[in-house]
Amino acid sequence: MTTPTPQPGLMSITPYKGGESELEGLDHVRKLSANESPLGPSPRAIAAMREMAEAAHRYPDGGATRLREMLGKRFGLPASQLICGNGSDELLGLITSCYAGEGDEVLYSRHGFLMYPIAAMAHGATPVPAPETDYCADVDALLAAVTPRTRILFLANPNNPTGTYLARDEVARLRAGLRDDILLVIDAAYAEYVGRNDYDSGASLVAAHDNVIMTRTFSKIFGLGGMRVGWAYGAPDIIDVLHRARGPFNTSIMAQAAAIAALEDTAHLDAARAHNDRWLPWMSAALADLGLDCPPSIGNFVLARFPGGPDQANAADAFLRSKGIIVRQMGGYGLPEALRITIGTEADNHAVIDTTKQFLADT
Ligand SMILES: *Cc1c(COP(=O)(O)O)cnc(C)c1O
Repeated sequence: MTTPTPQPGLMSITPYKGGESELEGLDHVRKLSANESPLGPSPRAIAAMREMAEAAHRYPDGGATRLREMLGKRFGLPASQLICGNGSDELLGLITSCYAGEGDEVLYSRHGFLMYPIAAMAHGATPVPAPETDYCADVDALLAAVTPRTRILFLANPNNPTGTYLARDEVARLRAGLRDDILLVIDAAYAEYVGRNDYDSGASLVAAHDNVIMTRTFSKIFGLGGMRVGWAYGAPDIIDVLHRARGPFNTSIMAQAAAIAALEDTAHLDAARAHNDRWLPWMSAALADLGLDCPPSIGNFVLARFPGGPDQANAADAFLRSKGIIVRQMGGYGLPEALRITIGTEADNHAVIDTTKQFLADT
C-alpha cells in the first residue's frame, strides 16, 4: 500500500507553538508569552471591525489598495511597492516559496525568529544558522556562512526573542557583503518600538537596492495579532512576484479595515510606545537586579537568562504559572536557560518581578 507522500523537508518541521493563553483552574491569567500589546487594539480599530462585520458577505479588495495607500502615506513609501499579507508570517512563507526550494540554503542568525527555519523546511530548503555574538546577529559570521547555494538571508531587527538589534551601518555592511542574487529579508516586526537614532527599519536599504525586502506587522504595537495583517516593502520586481504568488484574497475585509483605522489612531500608537518606553527599562533593570542575565532589548519583551541554567528556568516557569503568569519557554530557540517575558500592564510587570523574586528566595 502506498500513501500520499509530503514534499521533502516537511516532516523535519517542529510545528510552531504560539504563546499559551490559558492555565487550568485559573480564570484570570497574565499572558506575557506572545509579545502582544498590553493596551489592546485601538478603539477606532474595534469600531471599524464592528462596522465591517455587516459587510462580511463581500469579498475583500485582494490588493488591499486603500491600506497600501495609507501605509504609503504614513511611511513615505510608494504604495505600488507594498504588499499586505495574512500576518507577516504569511509574507515570510510567501517570500521563501518564491525564492528558495530544494537544494537551496536559507541563512539566519542562530537565535533568530523560528519562522525562518520553519519556512525554509516547508519549501524543501535547508535552514543554515550563523553564530551570534552576545546574543546579537553578527554580520561577519552571517557573511562567512554564505555559500553558492544561499538564496535568502532572514534578519529580524530588532530580533525576537533576544531583543537585540543591528545598527543601520551594520545592516548596510551586511547587504554590501552579499551577492546581488541573495534576497535580504529585514523583518522589522518591532520597528515602531525603537527610538534609537542609529536604527533603521530597513526601508532606506529597500529604496536603494533590488535585493532587499522589509516586512512589518500590525500584530505587535498596533495590538491586532488576532486580525492577521502584515505588510512588506520591496523592490518593484520582488513585489510583483509576490503579488502573482499570493492568495487572491489573503487579507480579510475586517483585517484591512482594522489596520486602516489603527493607522489613523496615532494617539493610541503613541500611548503604546510611551507605555513600552516606561516599562521596558523598568523590567530590564528589575530582572537584572534579581541576578538574571538579560541581553539589552529594544523590543516589547525581555529575554531573561537564569544563572542556574535550564532546570532553574523551567522551575521558574512552573512557579510563575502556578501564580497565573504565562511567559515563554525558549528551548525551541536553543535558549533553554531563558524565559522570554513580554512587557505587560503595570500590574502584570509588578506581578512578574514580585513572583520571580519570591521564586528565587524560595529556591
Ligand atoms: C511576531 C513576529 C512576527 C509575526 O507577526 P505576524 O504579523 O503576526 O505574523 C514576525 N517576525 C517577528 C520577529 C515576530 O516577533
